[in-house]
Amino acid sequence: SVDKEKANNVAKIKVVVRKRPLNKKEIAKKEEDIITINSNALMVHEKKLKVDLTEYVEKHEFLFDAVLNAGVSNEEVYSETVEPIVPLIFNRTKATCFAYGQTGSGKTYTMQPLPLKASQDILRLMYHTYRNQGFQLFVSFFEIYGGKVFDLLNDRKKLCMREDGKQQVCIVGLQEYKVLDVQTIKELIERGNATRSTGTTGANEESSRSHAILQLAIKRSADGSESKPARLVGKLSFIDLAGSERGADTTDNDKQTRMEGAEINKSLLALKECIRALDNDQGHIPFRGSKLTEVLRDSFVGDSRTVMISCISPSSGSCEHTLNTLRYADRVK
Ligand code: ADP
Ligand code: MG
Repeated sequence: SVDKEKANNVAKIKVVVRKRPLNKKEIAKKEEDIITINSNALMVHEKKLKVDLTEYVEKHEFLFDAVLNAGVSNEEVYSETVEPIVPLIFNRTKATCFAYGQTGSGKTYTMQPLPLKASQDILRLMYHTYRNQGFQLFVSFFEIYGGKVFDLLNDRKKLCMREDGKQQVCIVGLQEYKVLDVQTIKELIERGNATRSTGTTGANEESSRSHAILQLAIKRSADGSESKPARLVGKLSFIDLAGSERGADTTDNDKQTRMEGAEINKSLLALKECIRALDNDQGHIPFRGSKLTEVLRDSFVGDSRTVMISCISPSSGSCEHTLNTLRYADRVK
């Protein structure tokens, strides 16, 4: 069928890198842009010192499915990443879009507009192409912090996960809102974002240690009418991951910080292993490696799509973190 053909044309795993512009702080410190981009190839020009203290440049080249330069807009990011996947979720696909990178690299800037644009497209399909077929759109928004789940649409209420007999993982009591229009989804996203950033101790410091997960679910009742209970058809998850550098906090003086660092490290490694297993079509996907991958379990089985957006700073001051991010992205594929 045409639908099936369309689905087959969208890569199962896509790895995209987005470079942000130099910011004022970096410019003030006279840091330089060390990233050059040529189509889907990216080069890091790492400045190093010889033993006699003369400078030389070591070049590291990477190839990705797409590389988005500093001037690329959020609209273009959407068309390159999520837009082609949206129609598939009406046909049982479960798709996940991740933003990976160090704190300050542009993950939230990149992720925040995507669910709104996707739900605009979903609602358009629901009200036109699939009109009167009983499809419904639901949204939920939660975060994983220190290995625990908190509902961002319900005052950061702490929630538990449970596995049912069919090995489906569900988050007990997670608020799910039915969405009929763009305005509602906009308000829900804003509410979740506000809850995230004003959590217990507040601000960026906190959000860089949590994974924020926004899910758009398409449901449909058995006979296509809106009166019967709806069952899940497809799902689109947007994940603003914890700052990748936080995974290295395992030697911090503060015990809490160390534990959180270890948890973040574990979840980012588990995520990489799961995506690799998906790519190799391995039967066994190692979900149990972390809370994050357990929560995403049902998105990795069946007809799934994964988009990884790796965010990087262009600055010489972030060279090491940038290389780590690019190596992570490189190994995902
Ligand atoms: P992260 O979520 O990875 O910690 P943010 O998304 O908060 O990083 O980005 C850090 C800062 O850089 C923010 O002020 C954001 O507005 C800005 N920024 C990030 N990416 C871009 C971009 N592509 N273009 C312009 N500004 C950006
Ligand atoms: Mg952020």
